[in-house]
Amino acid sequence: MRAAVYRGAGDLRVEQVPVPETGPSEMLVRVEACGVCGTDIKKIQKGLLPGPRIFGHEIAGRVAQAPRGGRFREGDRVVLHHHLPCGTCFYCTRGLFAQCPGYKRNGTTAGFEPSGGGFAEYVKALDWIVARGAIPVPDGVLPEEAAFVEPVNTCLKAVRRAGVEKGQAVLVVGQGPIGLILNQLCRCAGADVFGSDTLPDRRDMARQLGVAAVLDAAGDVPREVRGLTGGRGADIVFLAALGQGALDQAIDAARPGGRIIVFAATSPGETARLDLGALCAAEKEILTSYSSSVDVQDEAAQLVFGREVRVRELISHRFPLEQAAQAVEVASRPAPGVLKVVLQVAPRRDSEVSL
Ligand SMILES: [Zn+2]
Ligand SMILES: [Zn+2]
Repeated sequence: MRAAVYRGAGDLRVEQVPVPETGPSEMLVRVEACGVCGTDIKKIQKGLLPGPRIFGHEIAGRVAQAPRGGRFREGDRVVLHHHLPCGTCFYCTRGLFAQCPGYKRNGTTAGFEPSGGGFAEYVKALDWIVARGAIPVPDGVLPEEAAFVEPVNTCLKAVRRAGVEKGQAVLVVGQGPIGLILNQLCRCAGADVFGSDTLPDRRDMARQLGVAAVLDAAGDVPREVRGLTGGRGADIVFLAALGQGALDQAIDAARPGGRIIVFAATSPGETARLDLGALCAAEKEILTSYSSSVDVQDEAAQLVFGREVRVRELISHRFPLEQAAQAVEVASRPAPGVLKVVLQVAPRRDSEVSL
C-alpha cells in the first residue's frame, strides 16, 4: 500500500509499505479521509520523534477486516480514536484522562511505531481501540466530516473544562479551524461569543458561523471586548492562537476573576512571558486543556454527525495521499484561504456524494 512515511525532521515521503497484519482482535480499516492536525505538523516539522513513523490521527474509513463476532463488519464506516485511557488509574479516577500513563500509548498504526497511521491507505486499530475507540459513522456523513470527531472532542473537552455557561461572554482568540469549532461549541452552550483574528477571511468565516462580534486582532481587542461587555471584559477567553501578542490580548480581555484557557500550545518549548502581577491582582485564572476525553466521545460524534457543529465549511484544502508533504506544508502556516487541510485518501463512493 501507499503511505506518507515520516523519516525525520521535515522529511515526509510517500512510499510503498506492507499493509498492516492484524491479529484476531484487531481491525483493519481502509482510510478514506484523515485530517492534518497541528500536533502532527509540529512533530513532523520539528522532528520531535524518531522516524520512521506514519502519522495522521483524525481518521475516517471503512472496515476492511474485522474481528470475528465483534460489533463491526467489513464495509462498516468508522472513525478511530488513537488514544484511550485505562479508566482505573489515579488520573482516570480524577477525570484527567489525557494524563493517564496508558493514554500515551498510541492504538492505531499503519506500520512502524504506532503514531496514528491515517496518512496511509490502510490503518490497523489495536484491540483496545476496536473495543472502545471505534465509532460507527451514519450514512450521509462524509468521511472528511467524520474525521472531525477527534478535533471536535478536544474542543468540547476544553469548553467543559472552562465551564462555559448560558449568558456568559466568551472571546476566542484565533479563528483557525480550532477557534471556529470552539466558537460553535460555546454558542451551543448558550454563550455570547466574540472571535478575533488578523486574517480577514477567517473573520468572515467566523461571521458566517454565527459569532456575535468579530474583531480584528491587529486592533485593540481587549478594549473592544470591554465595550461589548459593559466595561467588564470576557468571562472566559480561549487562546487558540500562538504568540506573545495573542496571549497578552487574551489575558487583558478577560474580566477580573475571568478565565483564560490555553489550548494552542502542545509541545515543550512554546514559551511566553506572563505579567503575574496583572494576573494575580485581578484574580484571573489560567487553565489548560489538551487532547481528547472519553467522557465527551459520544457527544462530540453526535455534534459532528448531526451537523450541529458545522465542520465541512472549515475544509479549505483536500489533498490526495501522494501530496501529503504538500498538505502538511500548506496546513502549517496560517494564511489567507487556508483553514482545515484534509487528506482524501480513498476516492469517494457515489453513494456518499448525495449531500
Ligand atoms: Zn488532532
Ligand atoms: Zn488511566
